[in-house]
Amino acid sequence: MRTVQADRHGGTEVLAVADLPVPVCGADQILVQVHVAGVNFIDTYQRSGLYQVALPLTLGREGSGRVIEVGRDVSGITVGDCVAWPGVQGSYAEFVAMKPSECVVVPEGIDLSVACAAMLQGMTAHYLVTSVFDIKPGNVALVHAAAGGVGLLLCQLISSRGGTVIGTVSTAAKEEAARKAGAHHIIRYDTEDFAPRVRELTNGDGVDVVYDGVGKATFDGGLASLKRRGLMVAFGNASGPVPPFDILRLSTSGSLSVIRPTLGDFIATSEEMKWRADELFTAVGNGDLTCAIGKTYSLNDAAQAQDDLEQRLTSGKLLLMP
Ligand code: NDP
Repeated sequence: MRTVQADRHGGTEVLAVADLPVPVCGADQILVQVHVAGVNFIDTYQRSGLYQVALPLTLGREGSGRVIEVGRDVSGITVGDCVAWPGVQGSYAEFVAMKPSECVVVPEGIDLSVACAAMLQGMTAHYLVTSVFDIKPGNVALVHAAAGGVGLLLCQLISSRGGTVIGTVSTAAKEEAARKAGAHHIIRYDTEDFAPRVRELTNGDGVDVVYDGVGKATFDGGLASLKRRGLMVAFGNASGPVPPFDILRLSTSGSLSVIRPTLGDFIATSEEMKWRADELFTAVGNGDLTCAIGKTYSLNDAAQAQDDLEQRLTSGKLLLMP
């Protein structure tokens, strides 16, 4: 089967299509024919070496597809079921084997590409607005990269929970996408210092919470945008990792809090993963949530997809079609 592998860390030139045997379906596993694999920033961190992983590595952690084999100890899933998953390493591939606890069954009526988009980025947006900071009517949130994969979902989930979204984006097209997703105010942080503008928009108060997947470039401005006792949610490093900082800054800036969460800790049990997936699939089914597919590439073009993501050329979800 065709996969995308890296045998060393580096730029996208280290990615190569590799022919590997179809995985053997273990007794406690299912074998899935991949419909689409999701492209996520974590794939670029694993490739570059920002996140250390054993090499050679088959890229990709997210996908959706159809079950073609079921191990003898597995119950509750049958051949032909559609499933989606947020964290199975090696998903840039034609086939993936996994434990049933690593995936959710996709309800009828949900498109498999949309189901994939609801996994890693969807569940991230979900845990950020429910479990990291429980958005309530009246809360004001600053969302960086508001037209990105996670960003567009955050805009929708925050506004549907009655919160106000101040989004940052780098182009006019991204501004339009974020506004369509429910962002109330947009700041073009490519041309404007966003922290003073946030103060203006909030009558000097600042925001309750900053959702920051951009990292190095926005962390300081994010702290300066928070209201007293506000929460900085530093959940990603698209511009590079946040350097070490003096914890005393949190007291002198208004008794702020900082959290650096990761999805795995918010879907640690299959019950929790299923709860998040059910809420997302229900919202998609009702028409309350749109998982915008930015672009679909062939598996051979995985390097192009990662280049586009890292060069800030994309909006919404990127998918690879094996
Ligand atoms: P996005 O689609 O949001 O792409 C990243 C966006 O970040 C770009 O489009 C760009 O938007 C913005 N950006 C700003 N500066 C840079 C830069 N120097 N280089 C690249 N991009 C930049 O990606 P994802 O939705 O896949 O992920 C968003 C973030 O969320 C990532 O940091 C990712 O690691 C993190 N994440 C964290 C998880 C967790 O549990 N902790 C789980 C899932 C994702 P613009 O052009 O508008 O500035």
